[in-house]
Amino acid sequence: MSCDFIQLANPGVQELHPYQPGKPISELERELGITNIVKLASNENPIGISPKAQAAMEKKFSELARYPDANGYYLKAKIAERVGVDINQITLGNGSNDVLELIARVFVAPEHEVIFSQHAFVVYPIVTQAIGAKKVVIPAKDWGHDLEATAEAITPNTRMIFIANPNNPTGTWVKSDELKAFMDKVPEDVLVILDEAYYEYVEDKDYPQTIPWIKDYPNLIVTRTFSKAYGLAGVRAGYAVANEEITGLINRPRQPFNMNSLALAAAEAVLDDREYLQRALEVNKAGMEQLEAVFKELSYDYIPSVTNFITVDMGKPAGPIYQHMLEQGVIVRPVANYEMPNHLRVSIGLEEENAKFIRVLREMTK
Ligand SMILES: *Cc1c(COP(=O)(O)O)cnc(C)c1O
Repeated sequence: MSCDFIQLANPGVQELHPYQPGKPISELERELGITNIVKLASNENPIGISPKAQAAMEKKFSELARYPDANGYYLKAKIAERVGVDINQITLGNGSNDVLELIARVFVAPEHEVIFSQHAFVVYPIVTQAIGAKKVVIPAKDWGHDLEATAEAITPNTRMIFIANPNNPTGTWVKSDELKAFMDKVPEDVLVILDEAYYEYVEDKDYPQTIPWIKDYPNLIVTRTFSKAYGLAGVRAGYAVANEEITGLINRPRQPFNMNSLALAAAEAVLDDREYLQRALEVNKAGMEQLEAVFKELSYDYIPSVTNFITVDMGKPAGPIYQHMLEQGVIVRPVANYEMPNHLRVSIGLEEENAKFIRVLREMTK
């Protein structure tokens, strides 16, 4: 092969690190000679799929030779009604990551700057880098977003700001008045993408209800997902809410079938499964208390979280601890790639799954 294909990739892509996929659980079990691995690594919903979503997908099986509804009419109508906007303000995606990338591709060019926080969700730097735009990383404050510094970092070249609220992998969040004060400082030609992947988990009354703000801040785009509290991570369904003009632009380069028929059916059904959501939130709350209590007892510093995961300081490099836990049959997430080399992110599981993690942690702490 005489051609150096990396030279053909666009400059942003040349500098991206290759994605390191984890091994399938069945493969790990075979290699390690263990069974019943507990996976607390990807912030998935531990209670399994909603029976209503499953039934809706099963009903679709016989129609799968047909293309999906490219407009996602029924799902959009249901979301629009639920969040109180017009149907023309919704963009559907193959997970919300798909929508985040789409939005960036529509608005950001290599000459632009994109702002996000240190320790913010990994998709923001990847998307920015892939376009070849300039990444502007704002140092975190108490692990969370420093919105004052973020506003000060805006230049005439700034095109987009990503804010995860709550943030992954820190579980931190910004309050309504703080976010509003920030939005007041952002010029209208700078788009603010509010990634609310964990929206459903947050109970605090100071957590902002941002979709009604879109009327006042036309540069605001809110994204949400069915992957977390709604338990459809493997199905891939997410959406963005924005003003009609922005939504029209985002939909121009969107692949018409970027949400498949099963995902459309499942997402629509789970929105009606109030019982499922309720149970998911209850299990999560109990699991969070279970883990917090142990971290306190064993004197591990953790970052208080309003999500379905909790990130804990192991007090030393967490890579070997992760490996040890893996060998004991518990998968958690090291976050060294987020500049947090001593932390592990632990997704909240079912009570017995959390208990297994706790047993391994206690063993190690002795
Ligand atoms: C999990 C997560 C998402 C959702 O990703 P999907 O593509 O919808 O599965 C988006 N943003 C953050 C911060 C997340 O943690």
